[in-house]
Amino acid sequence: MTLAPNSLQARDIAYTVHPYTNLRQHEQQGPLVITGGKGIYVTDDDGKDYIEGLAGLWCTSLGFSEKRLVEAARRQMERMPYTHTFAGRSSEPVIELAEKLIGIAPAPIRKAYFVNSGSEAIDTAIKLIWYYQNARGLPQKKKIIARQRAYHGITLAGGHLTASLAYTSSGFDLPMMDRFRHVTAPSYYRYGLEGESEAQFVDRLADELEQLILAEGPETVAAFFAEPVQGAGGVIVPPKGYFEKVQAILKKYDVLFVADEVICGFGRTGNWWGCNTFDIAPDLVTCAKQLSSAYLPIAGLLMSDAFYQVLADQSANLGTLGVGYTYGGHPVAAAVALETLKIYESDHTIEHVQAVAPRFLERLRRLESHPLVGEARGVGLIGGIEIVKDKATKEQFDQQLKANAQVVAKCLAHGLILRPLPGDTIGICPPLIISEQEIDLLFDRLEAGLDDALGVMP
Ligand code: PLP
Repeated sequence: MTLAPNSLQARDIAYTVHPYTNLRQHEQQGPLVITGGKGIYVTDDDGKDYIEGLAGLWCTSLGFSEKRLVEAARRQMERMPYTHTFAGRSSEPVIELAEKLIGIAPAPIRKAYFVNSGSEAIDTAIKLIWYYQNARGLPQKKKIIARQRAYHGITLAGGHLTASLAYTSSGFDLPMMDRFRHVTAPSYYRYGLEGESEAQFVDRLADELEQLILAEGPETVAAFFAEPVQGAGGVIVPPKGYFEKVQAILKKYDVLFVADEVICGFGRTGNWWGCNTFDIAPDLVTCAKQLSSAYLPIAGLLMSDAFYQVLADQSANLGTLGVGYTYGGHPVAAAVALETLKIYESDHTIEHVQAVAPRFLERLRRLESHPLVGEARGVGLIGGIEIVKDKATKEQFDQQLKANAQVVAKCLAHGLILRPLPGDTIGICPPLIISEQEIDLLFDRLEAGLDDALGVMP
């Protein structure tokens, strides 16, 4: 590949380091430079349009040209571009946003704490859970359980929860702390045993969780973290009854439930929260991404009153709640998030998701008749397909082949951006504003990409 020395591509290669990228390969291939966006489409620097089939990174719910968010940011920038939330300082957008969030949050959530990213929300949750257990006089109760294929961000502590995804931990000396455990991900298709019914699978996973808590000692287990739908680990939709059984076990052993709503929150599964869709009553909630349609970075850690009361007492004992980020509760980001929530209400975004989801799920499930697709699963406007070599045995292609990445590359050529995920899966998660006609176009392009990939598979 020869690039003009002053091209964006050449300058990117010269000066930029990219996350989740094979850097040597990138030096050869260069970046896809996105220069604009309208609705569910983005445009590259050659003027080619793509459907953003993953809403950026599962986040641009309102698409790429929502003027009301631009205006909300401009208004707040002019009025008061920065203040913080340390030492009791506050701002109007933060107060209004917290109030609005608590108004829609799943019970028993009552308070909101703001940070800048999903990873920070998770990391803060871990620290505050340890603070909470110390405050309760339970210093042994510190272990945290996540599921395999979970994605809870990449900070040093939160990265331990994500660590079963090898690409996030290998080379980084993880695990460093012996406080994290993993249980099986609730993919009946992939982890169900020969002859096991879905209900038996759920019972087996619930039993696995209980046995782990008992083996570790319930007095050492603090919390269980779960995405209502596991996103970045391969879009794993839990089977019926799974969270009901899990919650009963957690209650029995005084283990907190942290719902990681970073992807599911704000309509993705067809309700405000994944917790609503799967009947989860969480002690803590992490949210980000669609909170501001990703127009500015902001995330939240939401908590029950019972949890808050313990923190409040301990902060009084110790003199302060010793956590905080300079930009946590940034007023401009908070103003954009607040406007985002107002748009969800005024434009009936959740109802729109409910209206178009049947079409999305019908087109998704239709993919199961394709020779490369073992399972097509989804809920609301999030879906995943699992690529297999043999549909009858569920055998997968050699991992070296990166079959899912090949399909994604073919889709890109057809003007559709998707993302390859672990387990030879592909994630589909368009902006929530997508219309039925656009859903059809998305799946037409995905089918074309699958057909092209089929032609080059061994
Ligand atoms: N939790 C979940 C469920 C996520 O999907 C992600 C990111 O994709 C994170 C946490 C981390 O968020 P961030 O990338 O904003 O740090």
